[in-house]
Amino acid sequence: MTLPDTSKTFDNPFVSLNYEPAILALGDDYYDEVEAAEFPQYTLRWRNDALLMRLGLDAANVSNEHFIEAFGKFEICKPLLALRYHGYQFGEYNPQLGDGRGFLYAQVRATDGTLYDFGTKGSGRTPYSRGGDGMLTLKGGVREVLAAEMLHRMGVTTSRCLSMIETGLDLWRGDEPSPTRSSVMVRFSKSHIRFGTFERLSFIQRPDLIKKLLNHVIDTYYSHLTSDGSSEKDKYALFYGELVQRVATLVAQWMATGFCHAVLNTDNMSITGESFDYGPYAFIPRFDPQFTAAYFDYYGRYSYGNQPGICKLNLELLQKPLLAAIQPSDMETGLSKFEDFYHSEYRRLMLQKLGFENLESEQGEEVLKATLQFLNTYPISYHHFFADLATTFSPKWRDDASSILHGSEIAQSLGASDLFLHWSGLYHHILTNLAPDEIDKVAQTLARSNPKTVILRPVIESVWEAIAQENNWEPFYELVKEIQT
Ligand code: AMP
Ligand code: MG
Repeated sequence: MTLPDTSKTFDNPFVSLNYEPAILALGDDYYDEVEAAEFPQYTLRWRNDALLMRLGLDAANVSNEHFIEAFGKFEICKPLLALRYHGYQFGEYNPQLGDGRGFLYAQVRATDGTLYDFGTKGSGRTPYSRGGDGMLTLKGGVREVLAAEMLHRMGVTTSRCLSMIETGLDLWRGDEPSPTRSSVMVRFSKSHIRFGTFERLSFIQRPDLIKKLLNHVIDTYYSHLTSDGSSEKDKYALFYGELVQRVATLVAQWMATGFCHAVLNTDNMSITGESFDYGPYAFIPRFDPQFTAAYFDYYGRYSYGNQPGICKLNLELLQKPLLAAIQPSDMETGLSKFEDFYHSEYRRLMLQKLGFENLESEQGEEVLKATLQFLNTYPISYHHFFADLATTFSPKWRDDASSILHGSEIAQSLGASDLFLHWSGLYHHILTNLAPDEIDKVAQTLARSNPKTVILRPVIESVWEAIAQENNWEPFYELVKEIQT
């Protein structure tokens, strides 16, 4: 990694980060060196100051111009690496993928000791662009910033956006009124190594490169597996087992937060089990397992309710390349635990959304089942149900079942229905078993687990309309602030 010799750049605080080009060090089998596009305009629209501290920087010392030099013009780090990968897209193997509109700009050791990637989106064409323009729409950038901040706030293991810069091009897209504005975004994530990175190496029949990459992944992102005394041989099986657990945990987080990723192709699955790449995603308007977010997902393959099954399938597909290092029986054993990991995490998170941390398991099952049955039957908002529960909660609910959610829109319209009475009866019964200090904890757990602001599609659209119509960014900044606090 070299630094350009300009005094302007050396003033830039981003020069002093702890750069650690780990992928570059693996050799050139995994990437192609590319150039960043030059744009007619660089206007910083979003900087994530919350992340600067983790990089050891004081936001007050970082100007917008510094951001533009580093994350719009990409002047600080070279070379820029378009990563090579393939993937299963909607069930079909595609050997023509790879970073088509982005590159790995740099890797940085943060103050917490974790290695992070700065990956770009919308930074120009690469050998993998195929027919695409290599660009990201401004609306696409706005949507990814919002998704990442929202999911992070909701406790989901996710990438974040470090910056988004408007780049002044007119883009043509089938899913946005066109021409539409352009942006370049920088993603802050644990890794851009995907399931599809391994699938490509299997396709080109390079078990040696699979093993080398796997060793790198384990050393960098699963280092406790080797530091706690496990033998060299065991580490591969342990890695797969832990990946299964991480992915099951992640999909449980999506399900509980009501998030539909929309494009769960294997090139969008991170080898660290982190959630990333937010395109046509949506938060579900109501609890409907068949809800599908991408207009091009004609058969609902990646519907909200299919997400756990699809993630398990993707983990199973990954076994083929991993055969280069891991015994099939070890992977079978690892994958067989997916459901247990998923269900216990989902149950734990949903009970938290209902306000309960340590419910006896039978009682938990029963109230969760009643909640989902109620939400699935009536056309009420998934998020408003939980937000109402959090905002209207009162210790009085313990004394009187009919006061539960009393006055809320939901109780007004459905309070007399059998399913609501069944649900509120169960909820009340649980409260009657709690001591007063435990009731306080319910209120706190409800508030922590159910943010009032959730970026349902109309919310995102209204923020975008202000930008599109009047170039008014205030509603966007307001919304991000609401999410973050
Ligand atoms: P995504 O749907 O964003 O995960 O992208 C799937 C594949 O298409 C990746 O290889 C991307 O790099 C590529 N791609 C998506 N949009 C574009 C674009 N506008 N120009 C070039 N490549 C793109
Ligand atoms: Mg992608």
